[in-house]
Amino acid sequence: MSSRTPLMAGNWKMNLNHLEAIAHVQKLAFALADKDHEAVEVAVLPPFTDLRSVQTLVDGDKLKIRYGAQDISAHDSGAYTGEISGPMLSKLKCTYVTVGHSERRQYHGEDEAVCNAKVKAAFRNDLTPILCVGEGLDVRKAGEHVAHTLAQLDGALDGVDAEQAATIVIAYEPVWAIGTGEVATPEDAQEVCHAIRRRLAELYDQELADGVRIQYGGSVKSGNVAAIMSQADVDGALVGGAALDADEFVKIVRFRD
Ligand code: PEP
Repeated sequence: MSSRTPLMAGNWKMNLNHLEAIAHVQKLAFALADKDHEAVEVAVLPPFTDLRSVQTLVDGDKLKIRYGAQDISAHDSGAYTGEISGPMLSKLKCTYVTVGHSERRQYHGEDEAVCNAKVKAAFRNDLTPILCVGEGLDVRKAGEHVAHTLAQLDGALDGVDAEQAATIVIAYEPVWAIGTGEVATPEDAQEVCHAIRRRLAELYDQELADGVRIQYGGSVKSGNVAAIMSQADVDGALVGGAALDADEFVKIVRFRD
């Protein structure tokens, strides 16, 4: 049994305005309050415009829900219109920030160099990156999914020291399973999550690799989460669509019930 605390993180993408965000987080807090769910860490990743509202709620009510952003600028300040910087996110007491989500890679051209710069920007500002890696369908069909995913990992971690890497969260998200209803089998998830852990041991050391949390993401729902979480190297889920329904997300958090 691993000592890694599972992390269930809800990626809201571009959904829920600040009023809906408050109602949603209140619902989560209420539903999770009657039970000690501390064995599972819960985080929400709202749009930037909701972060202040979520912060006020979480801080004010001392909720045990963490929050973070979906993206970060590689730069800390300056003439980068439309960007949100690490210092701004840490000022809002964000814990996490996703880096390299496949939608950022696909629609915003984020390559390994950009992901690497963003991972470093997160660490520079005391934020924990949730680094998203994973292959598209063509790569999977060609049987190159492990090599492809590890190359993304190598690129994003270039120049990241062991102290930083020990705290990172990796999300293995096969692109063909995101928002498609096409979930990877638990064995598919385990194969790549295990390969990621092995690579972390090669890049750093086994003790570090054993401590890093590796999530699976891609059409996770209450009905499939337990099977995925039963895999030895899967330490949580990055949840998109199903995280928009507070009741469903609570069921995912309570996957052991
Ligand atoms: C995601 O956005 O990271 C994701 C995994 O989405 P979904 O759960 O909807 O597939």
